Amino acid sequence: MITQKLEPLFKLENYQRQPRFQNGFYQQDILSVNQFGKENLDYIFERADEMKAMAHQWGTCDLLKDYTLACVFYEPSTRTSSSFISAMARLGGKVIPITEGIQYSSVSKGESLIDSILTLEQYCDVIVLRHSEIGSSATAAKYAKVPIINAGDGAGEHPTQALLDLYTIQSELGHIDGLKVAMVGDLRYGRTVHSLTRLLSQYDVSLRFVSPETLRLPMDLMNDLIDKGIKVRETNKVSDVIENADVLYVTRIQKERFTDLAQYEEVKNYFEITPEVMAQAKEKMIVMHPLPRVGEIHYKVDRDPRAAYFRQVQNGLYIRMALLAAVLGQA
Ligand code: ASP
Repeated sequence: MITQKLEPLFKLENYQRQPRFQNGFYQQDILSVNQFGKENLDYIFERADEMKAMAHQWGTCDLLKDYTLACVFYEPSTRTSSSFISAMARLGGKVIPITEGIQYSSVSKGESLIDSILTLEQYCDVIVLRHSEIGSSATAAKYAKVPIINAGDGAGEHPTQALLDLYTIQSELGHIDGLKVAMVGDLRYGRTVHSLTRLLSQYDVSLRFVSPETLRLPMDLMNDLIDKGIKVRETNKVSDVIENADVLYVTRIQKERFTDLAQYEEVKNYFEITPEVMAQAKEKMIVMHPLPRVGEIHYKVDRDPRAAYFRQVQNGLYIRMALLAAVLGQA
């Protein structure tokens, strides 16, 4: 039997987790791009620049060593989940990854999203959530005490993708005002298009939308743009926009959102960006894609210096490092 008085394991009074910065993001959910004004955007972009410099020089640091992220993906993902995991790792934090294994988790036993979130938040300080239903992250945020970061809610929004997209445009072209941005592909179901369009509408830009008739931008979003006085034009041909575009933002047709697969078959090979198409584009412009691509951009275009989509992937890492650190009060 142990008789001596137990020494405390931890000298808890010596250290308390505190926010280092009061940045407006501390403990906030990141659900929609509507939360971001220009000042917030500049703040995150400056932090992302610092993250980039740190990652290049040191590789990792211990900024988030006392924090744990739960990365919860109910829909497939390669880039978003791994970039959040990498972001946390580079900042010295820990990750509970519930991604590919979701079929082995209690969700497959019928556990509700809310119960899963209320459980997982007991283990972590922040949750990144991807789910097939529009509004799922907002619902999770209503119940959760820890911040929820929306990593895609069905055909709704993908705010962290939009932030990295905008950051890429700024880094590549040096400015956003005055640009002509052409969005190409599935504008109806493409959540990255919805989020980026909303962010861009804060700037003095002209927007061109290129899609088949059945996949046009949702009416409410189009009306918002018109109400804000943004110059918009719609067409169904890339050839109508290629010569003037400063940014060609290409997206895949979102097969998983179609209820009628025959409709998908009709539009799946609607367009392809090839070296011949690129020959008509300006010398100073960029081609972006949130990826994955499934035939919209020919592989030969990858050698074109204007192909920015893999640099865009890298920027995603820095933006997510900045966001995680900001939400946890460490940036
Ligand atoms: N990766 C992006 C998303 O999750 C784009 C796509 O899937 O087409 O929305």
